[in-house]
Amino acid sequence: MTLDLLAIAAHPDDVELTCGGTLLKSHAQGYKTGILDLTAGEMGTRGTPEIRAKEAGAAAKILKVSWRGTINVPDSDVQPSRQHKLSLARVIRELRPRTVILPYWEARHPDHYHASTLGYEGCFLAGLKQLALEGEPYRPFKILYCTSFEGMPPTFIVDITKQYDTRRRAILAYRSQFRPAKSERRQRVFLAIDELDNRMDLLARHYGALIGVKYGEPFLQKEPMQVEDVVNLPVRSI
Ligand SMILES: [Zn+2]
Repeated sequence: MTLDLLAIAAHPDDVELTCGGTLLKSHAQGYKTGILDLTAGEMGTRGTPEIRAKEAGAAAKILKVSWRGTINVPDSDVQPSRQHKLSLARVIRELRPRTVILPYWEARHPDHYHASTLGYEGCFLAGLKQLALEGEPYRPFKILYCTSFEGMPPTFIVDITKQYDTRRRAILAYRSQFRPAKSERRQRVFLAIDELDNRMDLLARHYGALIGVKYGEPFLQKEPMQVEDVVNLPVRSI
C-alpha cells in the first residue's frame, strides 16, 4: 500500500490533536492518508499500552486513515538514533507518501522535538540509494510541520470547520486520557490534558479566525509558498 499523506508524531493522540482535521479533509479530497506513531505511548500516566492501542485504532477509524502503525521507539526516550532512523526509513520506503507532516522542531516535551528531527532525518535516509536497507529508495516531496501548540506564525492554515466535530470525536476516542475514571482523577501529578479539549477548541478557533473561518489548523514549511494566481488568493486583507 502507498499513501499520499503520512502524519508522523511521538505519541498516539499527538496527530489527532495537531492535524486530525487536515487528515480528514485530505481523505475527503480523495487522498490516502496514514499515521505513524513513533512510540506506543507506554509512559502515559493514564491507561495501559493495550488500552492506548485500542484507542488509537478507534481514532484511526474515525479519522478514516488507510494505515496506522508504530516503530516502537521507547516512549519518553525518542532520539534521532541511527536505529530509529532506519526503522522510519523502512516505513517511508514502503508507504511512499508524497507529503509528510511532522511535529514542529521546538517544543516543551523532548519527545516532540526529537520526533521532528527523527522524522526529517528518517525521510532523508530513505532516499539514499547506497543505504543497506530493503525497499526502493524514496524521499517524500514535501515536509510540513504542525505548529498549533507552539504559537509561531504559520506559513498557512487549513480550514477544518467541516472536519472539526469528527476530529473532536477522534480526540475523545482516547477515553483513558480525556475521560478518566473518577478514581484516576485525583492524582498528585497535574495533567494539563484535562484541559486539552477546551484548549483545542480555543486554538482551532484562534487559527480559524486568522483566515476568516470558524476552525483552522496551522502549518509551517521551510520553503516559500509558490503562487500562480495573485488575483484569486484567499483570506481578506482589509
Ligand atoms: Zn505527545
